[in-house]
Amino acid sequence: MQNPYQNAMAQLDKVAKIINFGDEFIARLRQPDRDIRISIPVKMDNGSQKIFEGYRVEYNNALGPYKGGIRYHSDTEINEVKALAFWMALKCAVAGIPMGGGKGGITVDPKELSKNELERLSRGWVQKLADVLGPHKDIPAPDVNTTPEIMAWMADEYKKLTGEENGATFTGKPLDKGGSAGRGSATGLGGFYVFDSLRAQIGLPEKCRVAIQGFGNVGGNAARIFAENGHTVMAVSDSKSAIVKDSGLDLNEVEVHKKKTGSLKDFPGAENITNAELLELSCDLLVPAAFENVITGINAEKIKAKAILELANGPINPEADEILFKKGVPVVPDILANSGGVTVSYFEWDQNLKNEHWSEKEVFDKLKPMMNDAAQKIFKKSQETKTYLRMGAFILALEKIKEKMQ
Ligand code: GLU
Repeated sequence: MQNPYQNAMAQLDKVAKIINFGDEFIARLRQPDRDIRISIPVKMDNGSQKIFEGYRVEYNNALGPYKGGIRYHSDTEINEVKALAFWMALKCAVAGIPMGGGKGGITVDPKELSKNELERLSRGWVQKLADVLGPHKDIPAPDVNTTPEIMAWMADEYKKLTGEENGATFTGKPLDKGGSAGRGSATGLGGFYVFDSLRAQIGLPEKCRVAIQGFGNVGGNAARIFAENGHTVMAVSDSKSAIVKDSGLDLNEVEVHKKKTGSLKDFPGAENITNAELLELSCDLLVPAAFENVITGINAEKIKAKAILELANGPINPEADEILFKKGVPVVPDILANSGGVTVSYFEWDQNLKNEHWSEKEVFDKLKPMMNDAAQKIFKKSQETKTYLRMGAFILALEKIKEKMQ
């Protein structure tokens, strides 16, 4: 299987065959502006020292400062971070915010560290990268396994090193430390707004049966929001297990069960299945909200969902894209579907710089028309250019970036 960066570049090659952007521009976009690898020595609780590998990739800043999250995962490596940074550049363009694309990470399983070790590691990441960060240079945020608390440690470390007062260098901070109302649920909610805007156009019924892979910040919030809006959430999963109940899951009860037992497994009234089986369920809408490369040439043919909403970054590889297109399964692409998160990050940055605080209602009232507008523009673009939604989104984003770079 290809790594995420190879997948991202295959997507870029594909779009270059649909629209002639010029070889020079495409060649520029095949490399990040800079890719930084650092080693972070951390004093462990037992007194020993451990060295961790960290990254920051600054992909493109034509539209504004580099923007994008930091991922903590044992599988995180430079090619994943480069792909995620590339997608961030396109995502910000699609969302219509004045930001470029970046991404960071550390190769670590945060569950193996104590809280103090995790704090020292997070502060260490900032110490090594403080020079390249800044509210008008590069603005990190949470991603997989990084929390508002981690953003607060990082913002604090950055403040100690540079004296910055407004906190605008990191977004996704806790509310009482300069965070924005609504940031926690923004990715799930933004995804729902995009779905709602496109639902009829992609041939889905008014009330959908939904299967969601992932029950973290993104998948968990999305599940709740779909259910609150009258859709039936029939299946959810976490990294260890998946459950399905045809008549719909009571998500409050699922949360309680997960807290009590540490897993989704054996939820009363539901059937235990595997993560792979969840992807192949017969449903109206499949929502991959966990990791990249989960739908590939191996399982794409077996997908029975009527449509897919990508809340994870890069869950469908280019080979699977082609298969799904031929099968007539519309895919609402990640750079559109999950752009609500970075949009509210941008709102947080804006509030910090202006020393303002917007209510959750104000935040969501601003988010909804932006998601709707982005969704409709991409739908139109894909119709005009007779291609699928991902390519429509790429064309729209690359046109914006190219115009600024000239
Ligand atoms: N990590 C999120 C993403 O992939 C959010 C990035 C941000 O808020 O800057 O879109």
